[in-house]
Amino acid sequence: MMEGQFRYHTRSGWIEVICGSMFSGKTEELIRRLRRAQIAKQKVEIFKPRIDTRFSSTHIVSHSDLAIPSTIVESAQEIILLAQDAEVVGIDEVQFLGMEVLAVVEELANSGKRVICAGLDQDFRGVPFEPVPQLLAIAEYITKAQAICMVCGAPALRSQRLSSSESRIQLGAKDSYEPRCRHCFIPPKDLTK
Ligand code: ZN
Repeated sequence: MMEGQFRYHTRSGWIEVICGSMFSGKTEELIRRLRRAQIAKQKVEIFKPRIDTRFSSTHIVSHSDLAIPSTIVESAQEIILLAQDAEVVGIDEVQFLGMEVLAVVEELANSGKRVICAGLDQDFRGVPFEPVPQLLAIAEYITKAQAICMVCGAPALRSQRLSSSESRIQLGAKDSYEPRCRHCFIPPKDLTK
């Protein structure tokens, strides 16, 4: 895939973003890239925000049960210090780190690191989930992962919440959401005006 391009500018850092809906394989793709770097004996550090406590507190775990050891951070700022010696920095669930993550990933990339962020680009209403839109603007490489609509089988970019909660952050489990295409997605009624 596109990794072939990367060896031509290994002296400078860069930012990769893997975005998409839930069940689109974002975390699996992040893990795949990080593992390849580990195989090449590059120093890899992996972070995820505290808010995501599902399944495992010290590993990034994808829905398909791939796992990789990770460090939990309370804020994006912590990553700067903790990633000092890393050549490759992975960040999962980046949508939960807030806008301050933008300056952090810029600083890491500017200091020569490869930074790979994975996260949701839309919330349960289908609204862009900052800071991911802003990350896409400053990234060198973007992968938009697609799930498959559970209603019609078309490419799915949205996460349909199956409960009535209105909180933007509701973590979850496979049975709380399902991937839907543009046509089959039903936005929450009270937020569509
Ligand atoms: Zn559909």
